[in-house]
Amino acid sequence: MSGLLGAAEIREIAARIGVHPTKKLGQNFVVDANTCRRIVKSAEVTSEDIALEIGPGIGSLTLALLEIAAEVVVIEIDPRLAQELPNTVGRHEFPLSQLTVINADALEVHELPILPTVLVANLPYNVSVPVLLNYLERFPSLRSGVVMVQSEVADRLVASPNSKSYGSPTVKAQWWADLSPAGSVARSVFWPIPNVDSSLVRFVRHDVPACESLRIKTFQLIDAAFAQRRKMLRGALSEIFGGSAQASAVLEKAGVDPTLRGEALMLADFLKIAVTAYQE
Ligand code: SAM
Repeated sequence: MSGLLGAAEIREIAARIGVHPTKKLGQNFVVDANTCRRIVKSAEVTSEDIALEIGPGIGSLTLALLEIAAEVVVIEIDPRLAQELPNTVGRHEFPLSQLTVINADALEVHELPILPTVLVANLPYNVSVPVLLNYLERFPSLRSGVVMVQSEVADRLVASPNSKSYGSPTVKAQWWADLSPAGSVARSVFWPIPNVDSSLVRFVRHDVPACESLRIKTFQLIDAAFAQRRKMLRGALSEIFGGSAQASAVLEKAGVDPTLRGEALMLADFLKIAVTAYQE
């Protein structure tokens, strides 16, 4: 049987292996082949790519990736889904040598048997932000990707300063990549139909702006600034710098107005504060 998965086959596989989709694992499977092809296309996957997919589920997107990529590596937490995937791939006449299945919690995976070049995933909603940030950090070989996330999360990832959605994930992701919106996905393409909207976010990796120790310091500042986002920076960063006067002094030296809030700052501003405080 060639071609991609359709709605009837997805339900049949789930019933046969005893999978009743759960909210806890964010199990909303895409039952529309065109949506899967569209996602792979927007990720600009080529025949040279080693694609990484987190949460392949029944395999809808996996098969669409196998049509184009040289190899596909998948990480699936649910052992029944991980075990069944090679059978589905074989039935759809893709060579099994093209597929590597890892049955694990994606958050716990720090090494992969082959280095992926592109991330394409319909991410489990409850862990989408940590998965994205961790994989950008852990796998520098990932040069680009497209992830499907809850629309609210997509808005956060691509938000501009001084907007409600702008927050620590927005700023942190920019350490590694440029992120942009890549369209929305209708609820009707999922089984079961989710009660939230979904959107695609594309990223393209760029060089990191500074060394790893400065990244850690910068991220501490970002966390503190957004933990109390209504506070002025001199207050929000006072614990880190041992008082509000000390925080003001560092901020002024870095050329950042201490009365601003974190939401007004770009990544480069947080980095400037870290360099001023820890490297000068
Ligand atoms: N890619 C499939 C699709 O588009 O039809 C399924 C996507 S579904 C939104 C999310 C998948 O991630 C499920 O198969 C779920 O079992 C898996 N999952 C949930 N949490 C996970 C985790 N921490 N690590 C790896 N996989 C996870």
